[in-house]
Amino acid sequence: MPERKQIFLCAINNILSGTCLEDCKFCTQSVRYHADIERYSYKAIPRIVEEAKQAKAYGALGYCLVTAGKGLDDKKVDFVARAAEAIKAEVEGLNLIACNGTATKEQLSYLKAHGIDSYNHNLETSERYYADICQTHAWSERYETCENVKSVGLALCSGGIFGMGESSEDRDALLDAIASLQPESTPLNFYHPNPALPIKTRNITFDEAVEIIHKARGLLGEDRLLMVAGGRELLFGGKEEAMFRAGANAIVIGNYLTTPGQAPSQDRKILESLGYEVATHCDTQ
Ligand code: SF4
Repeated sequence: MPERKQIFLCAINNILSGTCLEDCKFCTQSVRYHADIERYSYKAIPRIVEEAKQAKAYGALGYCLVTAGKGLDDKKVDFVARAAEAIKAEVEGLNLIACNGTATKEQLSYLKAHGIDSYNHNLETSERYYADICQTHAWSERYETCENVKSVGLALCSGGIFGMGESSEDRDALLDAIASLQPESTPLNFYHPNPALPIKTRNITFDEAVEIIHKARGLLGEDRLLMVAGGRELLFGGKEEAMFRAGANAIVIGNYLTTPGQAPSQDRKILESLGYEVATHCDTQ
C-alpha cells in the first residue's frame, strides 16, 4: 500500500495581544488602527501550558508563542523563556516556536537555552512593497533577524502574506527572498481584510494562491514544511485538496492571532476524508 502523505499541524498562542506601536498596514495588532480585537498584556503561564496541552491533544506538533510588538526586550524574552520552560516541563513532543519580532543573536540564544526550538519571523512581502505598507521599520531588519535565527542554530520559520495589493513581481521577489534563507518551515498567509485597516481588500484569486504554493514548493525543496496559515478558510474552504496537491504539507489549526479559525476536529475530518495522515513527529524539534 503506498504511504499516505503526512500533514503537519501547528497551533498558535497569542500570549501578548494587540499592543503594538508599529504601523504595518495589514496588522490588527497595531494600536494605530483601532481594530476591534481582544487586547491584553502577558497571558498567565499556567493558562498557556493548558492551551498547549489542548493543542497537543488535537495533534499539533508545532506550538507557536506569539507576542505583539516590534521585537524582543528584556522583559519579553524572559517571559517567553519562562513560558517555554513551563510547557516543556509538562507537555511532551511539541516543537516550540517563538514569534516575537526582531531579535538579536543574544536574545535568540537565550530562548534556545530555555527550550525554544524554532523562531518565526516573516518577511511579509517583497522589500520594494514593504516600504509602502510599513514606515516604522525596514524590511532589512526582518531579513537580518532571520539570519540571526540561523546563526544561533534555531530552526527558521519564515514566510509572508499575499493579497495585500502587491504585484506578481513582488510575490516572486518575496518567494525568492524566503528561499534565499532556506527556512525549515514557511507559512503562507493570505490577507484577511479588516475594515479598520488601511488595506481594505484582498487582491488574490484561488488560482493565484495555488500557483504561489506550487512555486514556493519548487523553490524551497521537498524536505521543508510549507504551511498554509492565515486566510486558509477564506481561500481554500471546501477546496483544501488543491493546496496539498500544489505542495503544502502543513496547516495552522485552531484560531489565528486575531481571527477565529475552524474547529481542529473539523480540520482533522477533512484531512481524513482526503486520505492524508496527521504527522506525529517533527524533525525540527
Ligand atoms: S510589528 Fe508585528 S505586531 Fe506590530 S504592527 Fe507590525 S506585524 Fe503587527
